[in-house]
Amino acid sequence: MSFRVTATDGEARAGILSTAHGDVPTPAFMPVGTKATVKTLHPDEVRELGAAILLGNTYHLHFRPGDELIEDLGGLHRFMGWDGPILTDSGGFQVFSLRDTIQAVDDEGVTFRSVYDGSSARFTPETVARIQANLGSDIAMCLDVCPPAGVPRAELEEAVRRTTLWAQRQVVADRAPGQLVFGITQGASDRELRRRSLEEITALDFDGYALGGLSVGEPRELTLEATAWAAPALPGDRPRYFMGIGDPEGILEVVERGIDMFDCVLPTRTARTGSALTWAGRLNLKNAGFARDQRPLDEDCSCPACARFSRAYIRHLVNQQELLGLRLLTLHNLRFVLDVTAGAREAIENGSLASFKENAVSRLGNPESSRGHIAWNPGS
Ligand SMILES: [Zn+2]
Repeated sequence: MSFRVTATDGEARAGILSTAHGDVPTPAFMPVGTKATVKTLHPDEVRELGAAILLGNTYHLHFRPGDELIEDLGGLHRFMGWDGPILTDSGGFQVFSLRDTIQAVDDEGVTFRSVYDGSSARFTPETVARIQANLGSDIAMCLDVCPPAGVPRAELEEAVRRTTLWAQRQVVADRAPGQLVFGITQGASDRELRRRSLEEITALDFDGYALGGLSVGEPRELTLEATAWAAPALPGDRPRYFMGIGDPEGILEVVERGIDMFDCVLPTRTARTGSALTWAGRLNLKNAGFARDQRPLDEDCSCPACARFSRAYIRHLVNQQELLGLRLLTLHNLRFVLDVTAGAREAIENGSLASFKENAVSRLGNPESSRGHIAWNPGS
């Protein structure tokens, strides 16, 4: 068995996920390395921040530079110089979120225009399995149909039906030696459809199971309400992956509801817009209030940015579009969410997750009075 629960606290779990490239302590936040790089960072820096596993993107790597090229060069780990675990998504989320590029969806697969050159391409359960086998990731994801929030129920039901059809094919499709494959459930926050998807997908023998199609634009209360009953309905002896959450409060909310793994571009993307995630809320470093602020981004952070540089200096770098500014903010934001996640793991082991979360959420919700900061907004 590749997953072992080592401690529980309410519905929350701490565990170890074993992969071909090493163990992942859970709960685990997975930094997103869309194009085989966590933007601006060296892989050794990502590891030193505390990341145990990275996420790579099937859609983008298939088109650029090409999964067959990466296979010829020894696989994704060697190509990007990261010898730790890698999870690859299936590309389904990209295809279905770029709705204007979809040319046809049928029970066999989906035909779409590549965002790179407009050429027509087709993903089926077998092709995305082959691409992920070529990349050689440690965890491959199933092709799913992931509609945005608010689609008519008939469209949601069709997404659930096709996601199951495709999972039944992918569970027996190609995989790299030692590669784990995770199934994805759909159904948004619709109780009947999500339950149907949970039953159909967990009837198939996957190495782990994901909640997909949540956190796609619906109100946060609906996301959390659905997670509260859907996560415990997944098999207890397999890892549970919530796709697409990465703000500190959201991480704590889904961990409390029994989720083991999660990913999001939020920490890294926020960094590249010049903002820092801190216990004092989200700081927009472009704000003039930081011009003479000699404090680190966060007083309690020991990342390479906070160990040495002031808010004033980072503000200057951001305003001058200096590359170091993007690097320092990325280092800090990743460390911040990885620290929150590690803190949650420790609290689960100590049986104190409820008080850890209460304290964390109250700090995040009551930022210290700090000139120039803007309030933390968990919904964005
Ligand atoms: Zn920091």
